[in-house]
Amino acid sequence: MRSKASNRIQKLRQALAAKEIEAILISQPENRYYLSGFAGSAGFLLITPRNAVLATDSRYTEQARREAPDYEIFRTSGDIARWLPDMATGVNLRQLGFEAADITLASYRQMSGAAKKAGLKLVPTEGLVEQIRAVKEPEEIESITRAIEMTDAAIEYIGDIIHTGTSEKELAWEIEKFLKERGSDGLPFDIIVASGNNSALPHARPSSRTIHPGEPVVIDIGARFEGYGSDLSRTICTGTPDDTFNRAYNTVLGAQLAAIAMIQEGMTGEEADRLARTVIEEAGYGEAFGHSLGHGLGLAPHEAPRLGPGSAETLTPGMVFTIEPGIYLAGWGGVRIEDTVVMEKGKIRVLSQARK
Ligand code: ZN
Repeated sequence: MRSKASNRIQKLRQALAAKEIEAILISQPENRYYLSGFAGSAGFLLITPRNAVLATDSRYTEQARREAPDYEIFRTSGDIARWLPDMATGVNLRQLGFEAADITLASYRQMSGAAKKAGLKLVPTEGLVEQIRAVKEPEEIESITRAIEMTDAAIEYIGDIIHTGTSEKELAWEIEKFLKERGSDGLPFDIIVASGNNSALPHARPSSRTIHPGEPVVIDIGARFEGYGSDLSRTICTGTPDDTFNRAYNTVLGAQLAAIAMIQEGMTGEEADRLARTVIEEAGYGEAFGHSLGHGLGLAPHEAPRLGPGSAETLTPGMVFTIEPGIYLAGWGGVRIEDTVVMEKGKIRVLSQARK
């Protein structure tokens, strides 16, 4: 049986062949881990039609041998200009793709000087591995589901402990403790607890503001299991919600349920977004929904596909993504409801189970 890494390398080779790129240098950390299993924090992968080489420095060579048995290990020293020509001559390369969104201008200058000397042509690429990562393998969906179970349980717990007078920061800390006690490996992103008018900011940071009765509290949390994250948002109200809350909440929920019911395999990210956006626009809140409907998640908290205006990405089986419409009203607050779904048998299946 072929290993997980060698299957993924094979998919990348097909993508490279389709673009007529001879070989690629992978530097983006999640892509490097995904393709090799190597969890060290420095190194490059070189993938050619025949070779798979992991270049890393002496701090990581032993770890690389253990974690990435599908790769030849190439020990680097100094900056990339010193070792790139050696590595390229070793595998007889004339052309080399690189990840344009990850390489800094400074590294590019070093690489291009070295490439010129080695007679190597550099070719910028974008999103090749990210497109492969967007379609999850069953084992990846299993890990995401385990992370989702932790955030589902955390929402249940918050429902029990939230009360008027608690500060956003206190609540965020309670959630963080809960998730880590449940086994979350760190957190994929900082917890958001935003109350009252703070919740009008989609990415508010928890402050010392205390929660008042009747106002919205937006909670956006993630857990991590074996490298894979979850992402869940709920909007809670302690006490009796006002009319604005009820109207905004029901509109956001209606928009989310419409998207969940109608998103189908083969739609673009833009078409999926439109399903929810129409509901919010028709309720008169079009201007108050400023962000995209959703995003893929996996090794990174935000990854392909994007579900939003202008997204031509096609939704295909195995993709895992969020559906998170929101309404944000300056001076009052906001409502966001976010769940994670997987595309399966033409439709989507909701993975998160926390009550709304
Ligand atoms: Zn999200």
